[in-house]
Amino acid sequence: MGAEAVAAMLPFLTERFGNPSGAHAVARDARLALDEAREVVAFHLGCEPGDVVFTGGGTEADNLAIAGAHARRPGRVVCSAVEHHAVLHATQALGGTVVPVDRRGVIDLDALADTLDADVTVVSVMLANNEVGTVQPLAEVAALVAAKAPQAVLHTDAVQAFPWLDVAVLAADAHLVAVSAHKFGGPKGVGALAVRSGAAVAPIIHGGGQERDRRSGTHNVAGIVAMAAAMEATSTKRAETVEHVGDLRDRLADGLVSAVPGAVETGDRTTKIAGNCHIRFDGIESEALLVLLDEAGLCASAGSACASGAIEPSHVLRAMGLTVTEAVSSVRFSLGATSTEVDVDLALKLVPDAVAQLRAR
Ligand code: PLP
Repeated sequence: MGAEAVAAMLPFLTERFGNPSGAHAVARDARLALDEAREVVAFHLGCEPGDVVFTGGGTEADNLAIAGAHARRPGRVVCSAVEHHAVLHATQALGGTVVPVDRRGVIDLDALADTLDADVTVVSVMLANNEVGTVQPLAEVAALVAAKAPQAVLHTDAVQAFPWLDVAVLAADAHLVAVSAHKFGGPKGVGALAVRSGAAVAPIIHGGGQERDRRSGTHNVAGIVAMAAAMEATSTKRAETVEHVGDLRDRLADGLVSAVPGAVETGDRTTKIAGNCHIRFDGIESEALLVLLDEAGLCASAGSACASGAIEPSHVLRAMGLTVTEAVSSVRFSLGATSTEVDVDLALKLVPDAVAQLRAR
């Protein structure tokens, strides 16, 4: 976790332990902290404080957006084929429509336009993808929704975008915006959904009526305060981080593609976030490569980590037109604000050796 988030959260794990739903002085102290955090989060999401619904993470925020908006306005739900499962499965659970993407992972705007009609009430298109980093043309999506399905609300999963992009600006046209603290230096298990005026969500968690009856349950005050601190720290350093990490990513991706025969970069660097380096190594299985790299002290991923830890051929890569064989030979190297030249040097040494070792088997 980021130092700012840890420092912000500690008092609420110790002496400032009040429940903000109470009425006495200790509770009022917690309420004050909650209100301050809400203002910070609202500012960074480009909405009013009253629009912010604190949740138990990104998955819950996405489910509240889709199921909650659908409950208020029953109709057809539409999402892109490269959404995180939190959106994809929530959409499929409601019998929704999945819109294809191109080889870069960018939504097919013609296909989206074709499927939008008077029956559609919820559209969900993520801001940045968690596997390949592709940034979606959200303003164009919003314009299409406004023209062809003006009754629909537009949700964007900005969970992966926040460290790299100004979400308040880029998601300004979305009615609903989901974020998750652990993607930008905050704790796990806390997130938020911005519900702009004009949109409404029915609760998916019922109880004491917290968050203006949109999300019941005693607030995770320490987590929420830490999320706000992490948002502040992330956005203050964002421009610098994007530049620094983008340079590191370029060196890593260029270095791997030139050092490893049959290495192919996934997607298009001009349409992806700075921290994403995604490479396919022909003829190897990513799972075997990840084991070798892990033993050597380099952490990388393939597909998306699910609860079992098993790696499935990624639905994102399949939607981008990769074959199953290509999808299972792809690896994602994620870089972040704390990544260094030394990390890149290590990867540039370990990965070519490990690929060569696997190919020699
Ligand atoms: N959406 C995206 C794009 C993600 O990358 C993730 C997590 O990796 C989620 C949603 C789910 O967020 P959480 O882990 O906070 O439930």
